[in-house]
Amino acid sequence: MAHGSFVTAINCMDGRTQLPVISFLKEKYGVDYVDSITEPGPIKFLARNQDGNTIASIRKRVAISVEKHGSGVIAIVGHHDCAGNPVGKETQLEQLEDSANLIKTWGYDVDIVKLWVDESWQVHEV
Ligand SMILES: [Zn+2]
Repeated sequence: MAHGSFVTAINCMDGRTQLPVISFLKEKYGVDYVDSITEPGPIKFLARNQDGNTIASIRKRVAISVEKHGSGVIAIVGHHDCAGNPVGKETQLEQLEDSANLIKTWGYDVDIVKLWVDESWQVHEV
């Protein structure tokens, strides 16, 4: 594709997580661009699978990134000190797992990668 290569990040809206996640994904996958889909604490919504409007909005944006931009990776992100999802790391790791399981049901042929951003804004695959 002439317009470059993409992966997808379902990230928190928190400004502190944007550049670390983008840099991590560009380096790991060697892509030109990261499509960012942001909500306050998105894994809270995805793990619960209750707020239909929010999930539909996320899913619509994922569809554009995968179908129009050819993304083959969807990253989901939890992070330290999340105002939108104020629970501890262990709970967020469970939410990441549940979120990945929901996204798998959407049926895209993509890799799903779970990321944790720590208190130093370092990104870790979990
Ligand atoms: Zn957050």
